[in-house]
Amino acid sequence: MNIILLGPPGAGKGTQAHRLVAERGMVQLSTGDMLRAARASGSEMGQTVAAIMDSGGLVTDEIVIGLIEEQLDAGVGAQGIIFDGFPRTLAQADALGALLERKGQRVDAVISIMVDDDVMVERVLNRAKEAEAAGQPIRADDNADSMRTRLFAYYKQTSPLIGYYHAHGKLATIDGLGEIDDVAERLSGALNGAA
Ligand code: AMP
Repeated sequence: MNIILLGPPGAGKGTQAHRLVAERGMVQLSTGDMLRAARASGSEMGQTVAAIMDSGGLVTDEIVIGLIEEQLDAGVGAQGIIFDGFPRTLAQADALGALLERKGQRVDAVISIMVDDDVMVERVLNRAKEAEAAGQPIRADDNADSMRTRLFAYYKQTSPLIGYYHAHGKLATIDGLGEIDDVAERLSGALNGAA
């Protein structure tokens, strides 16, 4: 089963994806993680995307579609893939559909995780504080200015995907507020309903 977790920054996509990996043996493909790895490696692409990521804007469709294509061509995800943070634009959604179709696969379900904006901003800023307190590196885009840009990018470029996948009959919506376990239960319910 291939699924997409859709939601604004701080909605808990990564946290829930990690649980699905542990519980269902699925593979998580996070373009954010791949881009951070590219930056850490010092590659040319990593250097190209650094400033835009720090500002909270979206990197080009071409780059992220290329990253996903590489993974799919490498044959990852026989037990199913969780797309986390991808697609984020309509062009990316079209490209993903075409890439999967080429492999005789498809997107089976799209779960939109709904969270109140203020809660999301608070979560992300808390994540930065906790990392700092633990002596861990802080994400350069986990600050109030970048958060505003990330939220704006979500509403302008990514939220149209809710209508897109609704029109394809694939959308389920869950409440992302509350305890991680409770959200995980809602997510499981939505996935079992979609299977
Ligand atoms: P994330 O870890 O998913 O919050 O992604 C961190 C940053 O990476 C985003 O704010 C964007 O700058 C960039 N990014 C990640 N995924 C995508 C994507 N699918 N399309 C464009 N930019 C992306």
